[in-house]
Amino acid sequence: MSIHGIVVAAGRGERFGAPKVEVLLRGVALWQRAVGALRGAGVEHVVVVGPVPGGIPGGDRRRDSVAAGLAALPGDAEWVLVHDAARPLASPALTRAVLDRLLRGDIDGVVPALAVRDPLKRVAGERVLATVPRAELVTVQTPQGFRVEALRQAHLGDDDDATDDAALVERNGGSVVFVPGEPINLKITFPEDVAVAEALLP
Ligand code: C5P
Repeated sequence: MSIHGIVVAAGRGERFGAPKVEVLLRGVALWQRAVGALRGAGVEHVVVVGPVPGGIPGGDRRRDSVAAGLAALPGDAEWVLVHDAARPLASPALTRAVLDRLLRGDIDGVVPALAVRDPLKRVAGERVLATVPRAELVTVQTPQGFRVEALRQAHLGDDDDATDDAALVERNGGSVVFVPGEPINLKITFPEDVAVAEALLP
């Protein structure tokens, strides 16, 4: 069984105000923690994309960085987990749940998902147009797992606005399912998220 991991750690960190690669959480870099979640679940071969020791260069958009990681996988890679370095709190148990579902072999992709907690509104400018029923909606995290071939195929298209890897696979007609995500698996997006993540560290 050929299982690989890609941790994307490139990008300018525009909303954060600086590249996130140098951010430490209790002395450990975000990307190292993200690699740890994959390794802890038994994924031995992990490619890091970004300016870190042993990393490979990323691209302009997140999807370009994932594509760089995919290109670095060996030709016989069958399964891949793609994880954001910006999610340092994902656990090996979550990674394992994604992987276990993936390895059942009946689908192209698996995402961790959480129910939406807050009311959702459709807006235009300051105006609230409607309340969006949330029962059918979830928010989605990483690590996301894929059949390598399905993700490679999905990357051949050129959707510019794919917000995650699963979006590319879905739009390419692939089947994606979800497993329960982890509430503490927050994404470091703004500088203030670092203090929250440190407080949540187990
Ligand atoms: O910027 P954002 O928070 O959406 O980034 C999500 C993840 O994708 C981060 O781990 C970031 O390092 C990575 N990324 C990347 N290459 C880019 C943009 C983002 O590897 N061009």
